[in-house]
Amino acid sequence: MLTDARRLPPDSVLEADVCIIGGGAAGITCALELEGSGLRVVVLESGGERPDAATQRLAAGDLVGEPLRVLDGHVDLDEVRLRRLGGTTNHWAGYCRRLEPIDFETRAGLAVSGWPLERADLVPWWDRAATWCRILTGDDTPGPLLERAGLPPPLLDTADVVPVAFQIAFPMPFGETYRADLDASAEIEVLLWANAVNLAVEGRRVTGVDVRTLTGNRARVTARAVVVAAGGIENARLLLASTDADPRGVANANGLVGRHFTEHLQVWAGFGVLDVDPADLVGYTGRDVIIDEGRHRGAAVGIKAAFALSSEHVRRHRTQGMEVQLVPGVLPAGVPEQHEGVTALDVASLLEAERGRAPASSVYLQVLAEQRLDPESRVELAATTDALGMPRTRLRWRHGAADRAAILHGLGVLAEELGAAGLGRLQIVPGGVHADAVEHFNGELVSLYRVALDEVDPETFPLGVGFHHMCTTRMSDDPRTGVVDPDCRAHELDNLWLAGSSVFATGGVATPTFTIVALAARLAHHLRARLS
Ligand SMILES: Cc1cc2nc3c(=O)[nH]c(=O)nc-3n(C[C@H](O)[C@H](O)[C@H](O)COP(=O)(O)OP(=O)(O)OC[C@H]3O[C@@H](n4cnc5c(N)ncnc54)[C@H](O)[C@@H]3O)c2cc1C
Repeated sequence: MLTDARRLPPDSVLEADVCIIGGGAAGITCALELEGSGLRVVVLESGGERPDAATQRLAAGDLVGEPLRVLDGHVDLDEVRLRRLGGTTNHWAGYCRRLEPIDFETRAGLAVSGWPLERADLVPWWDRAATWCRILTGDDTPGPLLERAGLPPPLLDTADVVPVAFQIAFPMPFGETYRADLDASAEIEVLLWANAVNLAVEGRRVTGVDVRTLTGNRARVTARAVVVAAGGIENARLLLASTDADPRGVANANGLVGRHFTEHLQVWAGFGVLDVDPADLVGYTGRDVIIDEGRHRGAAVGIKAAFALSSEHVRRHRTQGMEVQLVPGVLPAGVPEQHEGVTALDVASLLEAERGRAPASSVYLQVLAEQRLDPESRVELAATTDALGMPRTRLRWRHGAADRAAILHGLGVLAEELGAAGLGRLQIVPGGVHADAVEHFNGELVSLYRVALDEVDPETFPLGVGFHHMCTTRMSDDPRTGVVDPDCRAHELDNLWLAGSSVFATGGVATPTFTIVALAARLAHHLRARLS
């Protein structure tokens, strides 16, 4: 059932078995996985079903660390996540991929690393998440997946550089996709326009969740179990802002809430000219497959491959994970001349002069890289408050020289491996690729990139964001190194759980939502067992 918190009688008290704060990918999955358990579930969702500017402003905050860069500029905190039913999945690109073996290990060379889970523990939950994310399978082993999509086998598979495959769920906004299921449920009540502004705590229990609407209505939810699923930044903010019982906030006796804020570092890293027939590159640009069974029959899933450093390489070289996607750079004939910089075409013609024949393909390189965990990279509270009187977020994102060095190292390895295999060569220009324009050629939309070789400085090249906010209430089996235990329960409380990428113990490289959904399903099953 969907209800409007603005219409509740003033100062209502609602009782539930489980109160879930946040109706995004994590909150919706957790709620629907509890369906049929006989437990009464109340979901508090800040927004409604449509975008609302005043609600979206509640996500605004101060950036006092590294800027949130995208290819063409900077974004603010209220542009990198969404406050409405379905949360940020109303914007996500739908890329799904499992974490790698290396992500779960305690790693030499990194101060903070490793999950208190085995990768095998998550495998059944990724299988389950595949259904919620409307993709083909939980097993994204590249060979079989590419074959299933009728794509050629991966170009490169060595000890150092391995293929990885994405399944792309599109369009897949969790709110619209699961609205009817939520509305039809007799056990789940989704309160829209309901902002959780405080967790009331006595001893080791959350005794109530205070709710405010922007229209001034107030309510309280009491529940046997409280799940905070408000997103990777808001999860920390809500715990830090709930100071009735302890000025440090909730679950924060060790001062860890908000620390280790981690992103995926997205970098346009240069281009490659490849002696590969464009038909053999199609696996890297992707192909759609239609789901032919189950509840999502008829949905289209994109399948595509990328290169990644192998877990073995990352382990041996004590470096960080990295994947590289190929973005086609072959521009149709008739593209206007670039006024400055070089394009992949320019390099293609250089190679042509050198070898007497043109390379078959040219591509741009888009890197997504792992950031090393740093306790000083953190979500804090600002001195100012939002329209509901809640302290705003202050994000102090830190990354550094080691992250840039790892990216340069990884690009070098990829260049060497492609060269050794006789597949082509790379021009590494991290941060020097700019989007000049988007134009129509022969009816197709084509991005024109400009590459400015002289802008690149290995010490300072810009690191962009992946829009993935991780590790702010990280999982650990030791309360001195993490906020939640392997069941996602706050170490310091008996009835508070966290859902979303804030519980990731490390960020890895893989896009997070598939694992967020897997962990949310796993959490629901834990709660079923615990509360029944
Ligand atoms: C442009 C873009 C592209 C992306 N592409 C990908 C991709 O390809 N693959 C991928 O894996 N990920 C991608 N992501 C990230 C993905 O969207 C998030 O990982 C995912 O949405 C997180 O799910 P969540 O449920 O934890 O948080 P959210 O989806 O952000 O949901 C949190 C919900 O909590 C609500 N909320 C917040 N605070 C409160 C409060 N105090 N009280 C009540 N409710 C509250 C919000 O309104 C929201 O509905 C992308 C993100 C962006 C911005």
